[in-house]
Amino acid sequence: MSGDRHSRERKPSRRMSKREALVRLRRMKQAFSRYIGKNFGHLAADCAVCPTPCCADAQFVNINITQIEAEAMIETLRESPRHGEDKLREVVARAEAAIAHFGLTETGDTFEKTYACPLYERGVGCLVHWKAKPAPCIQHGCYEHWEDLPETGTMHRIEAQVEQLDEAVHERPARWMTIPVWLTKVMKDNDGR
Ligand code: SF4
Ligand code: SF4
Repeated sequence: MSGDRHSRERKPSRRMSKREALVRLRRMKQAFSRYIGKNFGHLAADCAVCPTPCCADAQFVNINITQIEAEAMIETLRESPRHGEDKLREVVARAEAAIAHFGLTETGDTFEKTYACPLYERGVGCLVHWKAKPAPCIQHGCYEHWEDLPETGTMHRIEAQVEQLDEAVHERPARWMTIPVWLTKVMKDNDGR
């Protein structure tokens, strides 16, 4: 599972509140998820019975996200009746361990390093599956025939919209960094609130 976007200069977007951006982001991801599920899901292997889940594969995951996506993940865990604050602390501890173990950084080519995702739990799957999953994770699946793979244009459009939301909230060019790095950074800054 991989991402391939890098930070770039962009014309500043209209200022937006974090609340509005989080709502838009969630709707955007859910719509994309429905699109992939409806048009390609039936052709992909069933992740629920996968013996070697890719999210736990430290040689495979190089997903990078923006700050607003980390904030959405934190909010999703925090507000979940099933998970909540304790689970969030567990995830952040795993994120810190991943940073140390896999040598993840804020600088350099952050797409070069791979890591086991701290949001994955065996028997549960992705802890932010429906509300805050990165677009490349929604896109990714295992297909028997390469011609069944989803087209990538929609995912790239979604990522461009994610960048715009991030920039509108934080008023600076979006930065793409790994999930563990952004989760710990946002939590250190005002406890992710
Ligand atoms: S995408 Fe493929 S490797 Fe990853 S969990 Fe699903 S079936 Fe397994
Ligand atoms: S965010 Fe979710 S789907 Fe993506 S790598 Fe992490 S656990 Fe897997």
